[in-house]
Amino acid sequence: MRNMMRIIFAVKINKGKYIIAAILIFILLFPVSVSILSKSDKKSSSLKEIGEFNLNESSIKFNDIGIKVDKVKVFISSENKIVEMNLEDYLPGVVSGEMPAGFEIEALKAQAVAARTFALAHVKSLGGAGCSKAPGADICDTVHCQVYESKEQKFMEWNESQRQELWDKVVSAVKATEGQVLTYNGELVMSPQYFSASSGKTEDAAAVFGSSSPYLKSVDSPGEEIAGEDYKKVYQYKYKDLADLINKAFPNAKVSDASLHKQIEILSASEAGTVTKLKVGSITVTGSQFRFGLNLHSANFTFNFKKDVVEIQCLGYGHQVGMSQWGADVMAKNGSNYVQILTHYYQGTKVQKTQ
Ligand SMILES: [Zn+2]
Repeated sequence: MRNMMRIIFAVKINKGKYIIAAILIFILLFPVSVSILSKSDKKSSSLKEIGEFNLNESSIKFNDIGIKVDKVKVFISSENKIVEMNLEDYLPGVVSGEMPAGFEIEALKAQAVAARTFALAHVKSLGGAGCSKAPGADICDTVHCQVYESKEQKFMEWNESQRQELWDKVVSAVKATEGQVLTYNGELVMSPQYFSASSGKTEDAAAVFGSSSPYLKSVDSPGEEIAGEDYKKVYQYKYKDLADLINKAFPNAKVSDASLHKQIEILSASEAGTVTKLKVGSITVTGSQFRFGLNLHSANFTFNFKKDVVEIQCLGYGHQVGMSQWGADVMAKNGSNYVQILTHYYQGTKVQKTQ
């Protein structure tokens, strides 16, 4: 935007007045730059931990969905460099990096729209936050933003007899939804969260991130038992091993294997089952903190203190806010199209074309 205004000013004025105009531009734009920067910084730092879902209208130029974005600057972590790619060329690497290509085509299309929306919401030249871990990039290629893998990488992972077919399928899901994004009240959805599998119900953003969003509400997501361990995983620990793990992750917890069953207590959980508060020895932590501390599939967990072992049963995989990928596949198998899938998981949204 700033470059465009400079060009407009430069052609409209004659040389003699250029310096005055430049000063004027600086005075006019300086506060805008500062305000965009401060909002972006705030967003990028909060996005990871608590999520921020609503930008106010003045902070970003997405109100007009007529925008056209061709390029996205992607940080490729294995090469430690930023690569500028065409948005539509980047997307097959995200769809195949984030969702099994064997999933139904309508689920892949839903993933393509969510991934495109997520990418656009990060584009810095439009006022997006960029990636807080990769200065200069719009987005990184890891789970921190959204996973991107090149065609070559996917070909190494996939069976030779299937790989061309799988890649073509992913590309066709991206092409079939070209330029389409999720909007809420005519604005780009800034936080199209998605995850692997739910417990049968998705989570309200407020329960998991501590910040609510009109389109990230808890919805039913039946049929996800087909996801196997992504749906339900039971971890088993010897008492001593679990106490050691907890003390390593949370040194102030100071738990002991002998009294573990008394020292751990779930204090509160959401309606869908995500633990929101948990007593662990001398401290209280959130379910998410405990999940990441112990490297569990989800914060939707329960304890079973048995004679020799402690079992932790996790339902779902991921934060469970927004679209469930396994749930999307189940919906597609049952005949839903990608728009129906997206508007189910992101309540009140629309699928619109950007150009
Ligand atoms: Zn990132």
